[in-house]
Amino acid sequence: MYKNFKNIEKVVFGRGSFDMMDSILAERRNDNAGFILFVVDDYFNGKELAKRIPVKDGDIVRYIDVDPNEPTTDQIDTLRDEVMAVKGMPAGVVGIGGGSIMDIAKAVSLMFTNEGSSTQYQGLNLIKKPGIYHLGVPTISGTGAEVSMTAVLTGPEKKLGLKCDWTVFNQMILDPELIASVPTDKWFYTGMDTYIHCIESENGILNNAYSHAYAEQSLKLCREIYLGENAGQTAENDDKLMVASMMGGLSLTYSEVGVCHALSYGLSKIFGEKHCYANCLAFQHLEDYYHEGVREFKQMLVKHNVVLPQGLSKSWTDEQITAMAHVAYNLHHMWNHAIGTDWKEKITIETIKQLYERM
Ligand code: NAD
Ligand code: ZN
Repeated sequence: MYKNFKNIEKVVFGRGSFDMMDSILAERRNDNAGFILFVVDDYFNGKELAKRIPVKDGDIVRYIDVDPNEPTTDQIDTLRDEVMAVKGMPAGVVGIGGGSIMDIAKAVSLMFTNEGSSTQYQGLNLIKKPGIYHLGVPTISGTGAEVSMTAVLTGPEKKLGLKCDWTVFNQMILDPELIASVPTDKWFYTGMDTYIHCIESENGILNNAYSHAYAEQSLKLCREIYLGENAGQTAENDDKLMVASMMGGLSLTYSEVGVCHALSYGLSKIFGEKHCYANCLAFQHLEDYYHEGVREFKQMLVKHNVVLPQGLSKSWTDEQITAMAHVAYNLHHMWNHAIGTDWKEKITIETIKQLYERM
């Protein structure tokens, strides 16, 4: 049996396309209680872009600070309950921001129609009913959260996504002008998430012609953006990065991520490291698994004067390393893809602890 994936229904791409949001929302505004909930990265509060959000009477705009914590189940439940108590069910949810805001918009749109706490639905296909209309506008590129079928949430017990067909956005607006203000360090780490998605998608048993076509194109764009003659944060490269992020996300959707993402989840869960940065911390030490990819990644580090910390594990306790190893080990699907169906014969908690000890 093959996976049967749902893609985004509608996508608009282009500089200035943000201003099409008003007309795109017009045909939705009468649904449910007839108002739109905008969830916006707090970075934009008071900025020029905030004035361009097509807010009408009755709409709700919530600015959310996404630093330092990744989205939580509590945060989603509270947002849903507050909005329902004041105004009822929105006609739609619009998310404007990075991967964190994409996940918040996706998750809350599902939780308006699914009773109880979002902790009940962390996992694959646990959501019972379709959510409400949701539209995503990424403002930093790399995670692929704009196209993925999961909304990653940290709950009291696990960091795991609400993963199902209904999680996928109905509409995406890709306006490369919006990512111009991303600080260089975040531009690098988040972009590297795309690069690592592709390397991992390509290197494993689930790679196939479909996922490969997306990864190949996304990698070509990453190389131009981060290593090419005109490497750097330019308008042309912002156009490319937005597309690379989307294609990297689609590649892994049709294949899988691998060793780096498994280790990264451990770093996020135990030390609260942000996803993209955690990937970079891990990936630099994975020559054994992704030889060429790690070599090229190191060239990108040098080219952009990014120095990643070394010797981190010296200050970690054995208990912390063991806890991370368990988080990583439990991501069976990633090891299965990266190592093969007999991965349990090759990968043990001890092997994973040794990988963390390299960091
Ligand atoms: P983010 O949303 O956490 O934002 C990172 C930082 O960039 C924040 O400080 C934010 O304020 C800032 N920022 C965003 N846009 C900006 C802009 N245009 N100008 C200036 N600053 C800007 O970043 P991210 O790396 O995109 O997302 C990380 C999150 O994505 C994590 O919570 C992770 O779990 C999640 N994620 C989800 C998926 C998925 O498929 N759903 C995949 C990977 C990661
Ligand atoms: Zn990732």
